[in-house]
Formats: sequence, structure tokens, C-alpha cells
Amino acid sequence: MRRRREARERRELQGAGREMWEYFQSIPTPLEEFDQEEERERAAATAAVPEPAVAEPAVVVDDFLPPDFVAPSQREMAGLMMAWPGPLVVDGEIVTCSGCESYRDWIVLHAQGRVWLRCRAGHETRETGLDTAWFNRNSGPMTEEHASYQDGIRFLGH
Ligand SMILES: [Zn+2]
Repeated sequence: MRRRREARERRELQGAGREMWEYFQSIPTPLEEFDQEEERERAAATAAVPEPAVAEPAVVVDDFLPPDFVAPSQREMAGLMMAWPGPLVVDGEIVTCSGCESYRDWIVLHAQGRVWLRCRAGHETRETGLDTAWFNRNSGPMTEEHASYQDGIRFLGH
């Protein structure tokens, strides 16, 4: 008699335990929910940032090159340029070309926040003593637009 009741109680307990187990199985654990959240965020981020176009890596690679070693004529860069017929004084000294020692008849190019000097012989040197502010102070209003760097320097007489 007593044993039977115990057995029945045990069965009921087991039944309740199984229901509980099934209930817990049916709800996602907090960790799973977190994973799903992350998954959604990742998917959204991927959708927001499209794969770069095939043509773009060239621009990225360009940034890895030391700018001092890539002359303006060697790459496509948009910039402003002006002729500077006389001697150019930077930090109290007349600039001379490291390639041919010429000291006048420059083309001054401003591109990407940097100033380059090009001598009559075509040597191009970045002039770190000159900056955007200097260029803007010394250049007049833009009067001509050129399709390429080469067009620009030809127009300015080089
Ligand atoms: Zn030179």
C-alpha cells in the first residue's frame, strides 16, 4: 500500500520534471539569444558596407606608399598648380633643385595637403617647408582647369 503510493508520487514527479525539461528546451537560452543578436548585427553591418569595387584597391595601395617617393607625375592626383618664375625662399633660404641645382622657374603644385616643386628639367621634389596655407596665400584665383597633371605643366610652360 505504502510502496504503491510512493511509486505513484515518483511517476508524478517524473512527469512534472519532464514537463519542466520540455519547457526549458522550448525557450532559447540567454546565450543563444545573444548569439542571434550578434548575428543580426553582423548581417546588418555587412549589408551597410558593400564590398569595395574592383577599381578601388589602387587608391588604398597608394596610401601605403611613402608620399615623398611618388612624384605627382607618377600618379593620378587632383591638385592646384602655379608658375613661380623667380627664386623661392623657404625658411629664409633660396630653394635649389636637388636634381639640377636650378633655383628658379618652378611650378608649385599643391595636392592632398602637400606642396611639390617642379623645376624646368622636370625634377619633382616635395617641399615640406611649404604647406596649404602658404599655397593659398601665394596663389591667385584659379583661372584654368586641366584634365591632367601633364596638361597643367604644359600650360604653365614646362
Ligand atoms: Zn631640377
